Amino acid sequence: AAKEGGRSTYRFYRWEMTRAVRDRLLLEQRMRQGLDMGHFEVWFQPRVDMRTRRIIGAEGLVRWRDPERGLISPVEFIPLAERSSLIHKLGDTVIRQTVAHADRWHAAGLPFGKLSINVATPQIERGDLASELQGILADTRVPPSALEIEVTESVFMADAERARTTLNGIRALGLSIAIDDFGTGYSSLAYLKTLPVNHLKIDRAFVRDLPDEANDAAIVRAIISMSRSLGFLVTAEGIETPAQFAFLENEGCQFGQGYLFYKPMPAAEFEVLLMEAAREAATAPAG
Ligand code: C2E
Ligand code: MG
Ligand code: MG
Ligand code: MG
Repeated sequence: AAKEGGRSTYRFYRWEMTRAVRDRLLLEQRMRQGLDMGHFEVWFQPRVDMRTRRIIGAEGLVRWRDPERGLISPVEFIPLAERSSLIHKLGDTVIRQTVAHADRWHAAGLPFGKLSINVATPQIERGDLASELQGILADTRVPPSALEIEVTESVFMADAERARTTLNGIRALGLSIAIDDFGTGYSSLAYLKTLPVNHLKIDRAFVRDLPDEANDAAIVRAIISMSRSLGFLVTAEGIETPAQFAFLENEGCQFGQGYLFYKPMPAAEFEVLLMEAAREAATAPAG
């Protein structure tokens, strides 16, 4: 009987695995079709100067608008895309769309600051991202300094030298490079200083329990003060409450992003904010 039970458990396990594989292949296939049909769109979450609360840029965040299932979050499909070659096609779509928006806003004189593009580790590892960006930018009038690439610390875990070469190439074009979700990996600030990185984004996990959680407060304080003395720009992610904001502002954090200011929004909505900002700047009293 024990043997029988073991065998059916095994069979059940096999069946479960098969289903997981099938679901994954199905989702991949749907993603591929969605990409071909233009169902992926880049939204923007404004980033603000903590002192003035003015918009100084925005992060591009991809969404999948599936006709049957509605709007799908990137947490549902980025990990899957990263395990297949789809991440390259998706990444290309995101870059082209973001640059196209930047080109239009630049031509219209809208003060969008800097737009950042999230890039997955396999996109860095492939080695041709700098030349891809160069090719896309060549067809536009977007100043490269108006764009930023966000990578996570995991790019330095696999092949650090390869990553360094790719990032050097991107930096040489004039784009900024930010480390996303900083603090969750194992890279030290001293090590980052040897890389072509100029911006750190403190992970939301360290911001969430501020200002009460003493360990998080100490970590955030250390990241802000060290990155300031090393010359990095610093952004705190996931600011939701006035108390979090007050703590971060007081510690000298330069930039902030979070629901307290703005949630991610479609490009058209961000454009309206930019038009308002441009109008305000035009009507502001001189001096
Ligand atoms: P991320 O790059 O760290 O982006 C920040 C995430 O935090 C976004 O989630 C954003 O909507 C969310 N967020 C911002 N402020 C707040 C806040 O105050 N409270 C809370 N609870 N959340 C906040 P989203 O848009 O779901 O994106 C999740 C992740 O998916 C991103 O994390 C990034 O790792 C990945 N991702 C998004 N777009 C792309 C893309 O175009 N390419 C790649 N490779 N990854 C992307
Ligand atoms: Mg990001
Ligand atoms: Mg992040
Ligand atoms: Mg993240």
